[in-house]
Amino acid sequence: MEKYDVIVVGAGNGGLIASAKVAQAGYKTLLLEKHNLPGGCATSFVRGRFEFEAALHELCFNGTSDEVDGIRKIFQDLGVNVELLYEDTLFRAISKGKDGYDVVLHSGIDNFIEDLEKIVPGCKEKVQDLFDLIKNINEAQDYMAACGGKINPFTLMGKYGDFVRCASHSMEDIERALGIPEKAMAIINTYWGYLGVPADDINGLHYLSMLTSYVKGKPSMPYNRSHELSLALVDAYQKFGGEIRYNSEVTKFLFDDNGAVVGVVANGEELYAKKVISNVIPNNVINRSESIKIPTRFKQLANARKLGMSFATIYIGLDKTMEELGIKDYSTFISIDNDSRVQFEKRKEFGMYVVNCLNKAIPNATPKGTSTLFFTIPFMQGDFPEDLKAEEYKEYKNALAEKYIKDYEQTIGVSVMPYIEEIAIATPATMARYLSTPEGAIYGYQTEEWDNIIARTVMEQAEYNIPNLQFCGGHYVRGDGYPSGYVTGDMAATAVINALKAEAEEGE
Ligand SMILES: Cc1cc2nc3c(=O)[nH]c(=O)nc-3n(C[C@H](O)[C@H](O)[C@H](O)COP(=O)(O)OP(=O)(O)OC[C@H]3O[C@@H](n4cnc5c(N)ncnc54)[C@H](O)[C@@H]3O)c2cc1C
Repeated sequence: MEKYDVIVVGAGNGGLIASAKVAQAGYKTLLLEKHNLPGGCATSFVRGRFEFEAALHELCFNGTSDEVDGIRKIFQDLGVNVELLYEDTLFRAISKGKDGYDVVLHSGIDNFIEDLEKIVPGCKEKVQDLFDLIKNINEAQDYMAACGGKINPFTLMGKYGDFVRCASHSMEDIERALGIPEKAMAIINTYWGYLGVPADDINGLHYLSMLTSYVKGKPSMPYNRSHELSLALVDAYQKFGGEIRYNSEVTKFLFDDNGAVVGVVANGEELYAKKVISNVIPNNVINRSESIKIPTRFKQLANARKLGMSFATIYIGLDKTMEELGIKDYSTFISIDNDSRVQFEKRKEFGMYVVNCLNKAIPNATPKGTSTLFFTIPFMQGDFPEDLKAEEYKEYKNALAEKYIKDYEQTIGVSVMPYIEEIAIATPATMARYLSTPEGAIYGYQTEEWDNIIARTVMEQAEYNIPNLQFCGGHYVRGDGYPSGYVTGDMAATAVINALKAEAEEGE
């Protein structure tokens, strides 16, 4: 019976960083992935002469390549260097509602504020006030990261007041408190569509941190899709001596009599380790464990949480260039109304969707004379028709794609349909099958008011209380996205390395 120091389950963004860091520290590590390739969401696929990015719209790395932010540092520490391309414009936002707009916002806080001032004269100072909050938020996050889970609430309240206030209010509360005009608010809140929670509900701290990261840095993309990032991480992991097994779905988590995790089962084989890191959502860990071994609080938490959003996506390869088609923008957010709550409620009637043209960021992303479009349509829990029969699925997804492509053509004033050479359509059912998440959730759980990032972080030790089992990924404390996957992977590895060191010292 071979024993590993650490087994990591799932080679998504979280699992890849966690396994690479643990292996780099010299621990015997096994990474188990159910697919025949790494990355989870962070991947690509090929149809005809097009390689489509499966998920990534833009990386939220702070700053340009000369600056080092937290995530870039995680990569650098692992010796992973992937070239990123940067896009000057943040997004084009089109609202077809009352007092709607069609605006292009540029990256850089000053540019962003100037753009807003042109559209909503008089908003400048108030929007500046909003961005000024981030300093205290960042300092608080540094303090919390340095605490290793032992956060003193009095220090937080005393020194990091803006942080605590933002963390306990929605984005809209903060904007209203600062007196930001409604139209400027609507444009600032455009990114809600990436998170699946409208601005009157999304935690202010969460949204503001993400917004600032995007605005401060330029949207960036790896040259060879996000699969390049995943492969680079596997490469680093293997250089550190780590073992990876593909086609290895973990079907069972193994426990000892004291309720501590001791290993997993994959392909019928029992594999043992001192520590296990799960990139797999807690619901699936519970489903793959003997119920009696899972603490009640852990089960209750997983049941109480609302699943986060999923997407329907349309990947299109076109036999004309973006210039020939008249497409000018990288990210275009199209909405039916200015208000993110209305966009959310009416999401089945074009409430809000995003269209990306990768050629704007990476001109030769597709073969000469061609271009690509990537539609993203938010789906919340229960939106996907439960009673849809297998034989009706194709018709359902084709109708969905046709509806959105036509709306895009009409809104932008371009013709797309006649030039489609390749098309692939994914729905929450695709995400559920590929990622094995309930309802195809791509971000784990919705970051609601009671279940926001700060609440999760403060309660981390108490809530993730299965001995020897650490979690990482979009479902963990930091919520959605590539950065959260990377950061929580790093956090999980650090926790496991510290625990293994402490246990080794105790044993001496
Ligand atoms: C269409 C789309 C667009 C997105 N756009 C963006 C964006 O622009 N910016 C951004 O930051 N984020 C974006 N995201 C979200 C981002 O991709 C995810 O939040 C992030 O990648 C999740 O990482 P993760 O670590 O949770 O792993 P996941 O990607 O969820 O991967 C988990 C891995 O575990 C494996 N696995 C599952 N169960 C088992 C098992 N039992 N045994 C073994 N292996 C298992 C899976 O096969 C998978 O490889 C997007 C997602 C999608 C789908």
